[in-house]
Amino acid sequence: PYDVLVVGSGPAGASAAIYAARKGIRTGIVAERFGGQVNDTLGIENFISVKYTEGPQLVAKLEEQVKEYGIDVMKLQRVRRLDKNDLIEVELENGAVLKSKTVILSTGARWRNMGVPGEAEFKNKGVAYCPHCDGPLFAGKDVAVVGGGNSGIEAAIDLAGIVKHVTVLEFAPELKADAVLQDRLYSLPNVTVLKNVQTKEITGTDKVNGISYVDRATEETHHVELQGVFVQIGLVPNTEWLGDTVERTRVGEIVVDSHGATSLPGVFAAGDCTNSAYKQIIISMGSGATAALGAFDYLIRN
Ligand code: FAD
Repeated sequence: PYDVLVVGSGPAGASAAIYAARKGIRTGIVAERFGGQVNDTLGIENFISVKYTEGPQLVAKLEEQVKEYGIDVMKLQRVRRLDKNDLIEVELENGAVLKSKTVILSTGARWRNMGVPGEAEFKNKGVAYCPHCDGPLFAGKDVAVVGGGNSGIEAAIDLAGIVKHVTVLEFAPELKADAVLQDRLYSLPNVTVLKNVQTKEITGTDKVNGISYVDRATEETHHVELQGVFVQIGLVPNTEWLGDTVERTRVGEIVVDSHGATSLPGVFAAGDCTNSAYKQIIISMGSGATAALGAFDYLIRN
């Protein structure tokens, strides 16, 4: 069996595996897609100490470093079940079962898509999901934020300080964000809020040039010219497959303590699949390190 088996190899999983292997213990990492969400990122400017890099480049660096430590890397493998007997068992989609004394879950998350024409086509060409990451790319431009929940309104407030104008589109007749966020939003001069509207299409040529929506009350279609669309309709953790094996929040995030431990002894978690406050590369890497050190501590005590 492994001492530490890491499930998922985004920034959190890679960091956890390297920290574990550096303790000289038997470490494996199993994942569907090495690098995770980082593969989908174009420019990265907030990975501190690296002024600029690109997703695929960072993924290659992660893989290179993981390989230096003799970690067992199992790529293109989807995990479907976790069980605990004497050891912790992780079952793959192909039926194989991996056994380990500890497991670190780092299966990340995915942004919920709107599923309208233009969204996939203009990803990274005006369609964005992360205001912390991509906001500065739209300095002085006009953008939309789709989604009027807390993350959408936080994004709109954040972006309003950087871009020329922000249009918020909310499907429901009212914004769902906390009142204090709404008050702050309505105090800003360069924000328009559209409620009870349905986004129909993101338009563009080689990059985004506008957004079309239907006013649900009048059923009229409108078009707004702008250069960016931030989709903020939810971040979904990749944890459905865990069922009730570990405690999860109402939105499915794995609950961890300050050592990265979950509710199931020997099982740790890190990165975007957990209830960490913010979801970023550097934060995922930090929590991966925490989970690995937590797992090591657990091993020397049990
Ligand atoms: P992920 O990167 O999501 O990795 C999850 C891993 O788990 C993958 O290997 C996946 O294949 C695997 N996995 C999932 N389910 C299973 C399963 N059942 N079985 C096996 N393997 C599984 N952050 C920044 O700091 N700066 C940026 O500029 C930035 N830009 C971004 C741009 C985009 C378009 C997106 C989508 C995100 C961006 N982020 C950025 C956020 C950042 O990518 C994430 O916070 C980070 O990747 C989370 O790392 P993670 O390891 O927790 O999860």
